[in-house]
Amino acid sequence: MALLDHLNSPQLAAVTLDPQHHALVLAGAGSGKTRVLTLRMAWLMQQGLVGPGGILAVTFTNKAAREMVTRMTALLPISPRGMWIGTFHGLCNRMLRAHHRDAGLPSTFQILDIADQLSAIKRVLKAHQIDDEKYPPKQVQRFINAAKEEGLRPGQTEAHDSFHRRLDEIYDLYQTQCNREGVVDFAELLLRSHELLQQQAAVREHYQRRFRHILVDEFQDTNRLQYRWLKLLAGGGASVFAVGDDDQSIYAFRGANVGNMSEFERDFAGPHLIRLEQNYRSFGHILDSANALIANNDGRLGKNLWTDRGEGEPIRVAETVSDAAEAQWVLSEIQSLVAEGRLRREIAILYRSNAQSRAFEHALFSAQVPYKVYGGLRFFERQEVKHALAYLRLMENPHDDTAFLRVVNFPTRGIGARTLEQLGDVARERGSSLYGAVALVAGKGGANLARFVELVDRLRFETTGLTLPELVDHVLQHSGLRQHYEQEKDGSDRLENLDELIPAAAAFIDEGPMPDFDGDGVIAEPLPDDAMPALAAFLSHAALEAGDNQAADGQDAVQLMTIHAAKGLEFEAVFITGLEEGLFPHENSAVDPAGLEEERRLMYVAITRARERLYLGYTQSRMLHGQTRYPMRSRFFDELPESCLKWLTPRQPAWAQGAEARRAAWEESDWSPRPRASAAGASGGLASAGGIMVGEQHFRVGQSVHHARFGEGVILALQGSGTQAQAQIRFADAGTKTLALGVAKLEAR
Ligand code: ATP
Ligand code: MG
Repeated sequence: MALLDHLNSPQLAAVTLDPQHHALVLAGAGSGKTRVLTLRMAWLMQQGLVGPGGILAVTFTNKAAREMVTRMTALLPISPRGMWIGTFHGLCNRMLRAHHRDAGLPSTFQILDIADQLSAIKRVLKAHQIDDEKYPPKQVQRFINAAKEEGLRPGQTEAHDSFHRRLDEIYDLYQTQCNREGVVDFAELLLRSHELLQQQAAVREHYQRRFRHILVDEFQDTNRLQYRWLKLLAGGGASVFAVGDDDQSIYAFRGANVGNMSEFERDFAGPHLIRLEQNYRSFGHILDSANALIANNDGRLGKNLWTDRGEGEPIRVAETVSDAAEAQWVLSEIQSLVAEGRLRREIAILYRSNAQSRAFEHALFSAQVPYKVYGGLRFFERQEVKHALAYLRLMENPHDDTAFLRVVNFPTRGIGARTLEQLGDVARERGSSLYGAVALVAGKGGANLARFVELVDRLRFETTGLTLPELVDHVLQHSGLRQHYEQEKDGSDRLENLDELIPAAAAFIDEGPMPDFDGDGVIAEPLPDDAMPALAAFLSHAALEAGDNQAADGQDAVQLMTIHAAKGLEFEAVFITGLEEGLFPHENSAVDPAGLEEERRLMYVAITRARERLYLGYTQSRMLHGQTRYPMRSRFFDELPESCLKWLTPRQPAWAQGAEARRAAWEESDWSPRPRASAAGASGGLASAGGIMVGEQHFRVGQSVHHARFGEGVILALQGSGTQAQAQIRFADAGTKTLALGVAKLEAR
């Protein structure tokens, strides 16, 4: 039958495994894990072994969930309604909406994204006069989220000293504030939902009866609490089908626990362990490089991947002089790929950190190449969009203090800091939300506050019965936001973003990342999750899915994203950029072997996204966070087989060839980024870049060096030439020294 065509035999075995059995599919990148998982769902339904309502599938992104639904509906004449396919956050949100009362939440609870959570924490610190230098908000945030991810409530964290006891108290204060305001942060979605299942037998049994098949993609990146959540749901005898790859575990820093894989084997008595070894995605050079790289990690579960697709093109490597030149190089390669007839959406630019996207955006934009950035400052995170959402949130739930504070005086309506402080005091005394305390503030400030509350109430009243896009439009108009940005100098971009909310709302209704909740007759019992009001659903979507709609959907655009965001995806051509020490591998991992291994897995993920063409780039100088750095080439280059690489620029140590040769090499290449004029020797002043030849050795700013007496150091600046050459070097232990290069016996690293 068509469904099972084109599967190799272990894939077929996995898809058609006895429905009573649990299974763990452990396999490398591109071996068909996601495909097998999707087909298994389709097969189970096609065989009549389960209805769409009996399936719970966890994917890594909402995008992946949508893709899965699309693939499945192409195979089977089923309606995805009533199916629970989504991310952990999305599924937990859905469960909490349906059982908000049992979970102790208002029906209109709002979700705090990372930035909202941070500002909520800052408010807690301020309200309780806690020193934010001693307890930096970000550290508090990490503490709270880590506790929640371990399933720990205030009072349960390990408070082994007074500092941690205090953190635990702050956690308590923060949670009390969230409860009062009816808001939940990301980690809370999962924890609440876990507690709900644990504590409410009726709810638990309902879902345990309902879900007969639980399928999990990217299992290696689940954290402990997610695993426990799955275990609870599976407690009624559901079969669990998990697929994963330990080599692609890249979220340890957020609590992901590869150990879940061995726990799974233990907890689900003897799951079938299925290995897939044929890679269908990448050409040989790409796959060989990935295999060689990851072999440098210890403690792997061990997998062998092969392909019969042939070697393909070698991997192209280029060194550029600056991040701007790197972007120019990528642009020109993209232009030739497109000229060869490739789709732009089949080309991805990957980077380690969001801040790197700017240079590429600039280059692509200037050349009028359509592109789409995932992540970064995403649509729903833009200031003006958040303002509009805050009005919508207040209309849903006026006790959401974060939203209240965001727009109470935006656009300005004469409500100053003093009034707000007064309001905050009253609210604290009464234990109410800010909204609930407005009537108690006297004077002119009080009157202005009252007008704001009236406005929100009026918006709620006026929009009753409107469709979601109409409602959004109405709020943009009558909140005063649109007029505000119309009048603002340079406000046109913001106005455009603001107006984008209307089509975003319309698209949301049309496609809805979550299926409509009106059941389809497949499930016998009426489900409690039938009606999430459109606005509440849209606001959840905005908080959970930020980033999925950055550019016009359907437009053929080059894809830009971090490597983390690229997990599970594939492209014909992939650019991995910024392959520099300190950036990738990230500097945080420099001293931590476990951190370095995670960086290497990240590189493995990046390489294995490519089907046909792979490009690797690094640059001699980079502006990052307002500073120019002069990094070394990433160590990962030394871990790739030379036979798979094609160097477009001379492989280092190209410095030894001298500036003229380098310049010639640049100019020969068709994208000819201009080399930075070497300041060394020319001006006699301390050079900020460039390099100096001393004897056989070449030195340059930013280079790591070793000195017999002073140990390890980095060159900060260079001066002079030949025997006159001097270097200013910062040594790790000995401080900064100025040394004569001709005499100093320095070893370049
Ligand atoms: P990752 O680890 O990156 O998530 P994966 O193991 O989930 O990868 P898939 O994305 O499912 O791999 O599959 C990789 C590619 O190989 C897809 O394009 C898929 O359609 C194709 N593929 C998988 N199995 C087969 C097969 N038996 N025949 C042909 N193509 C296949
Ligand atoms: Mg996959």
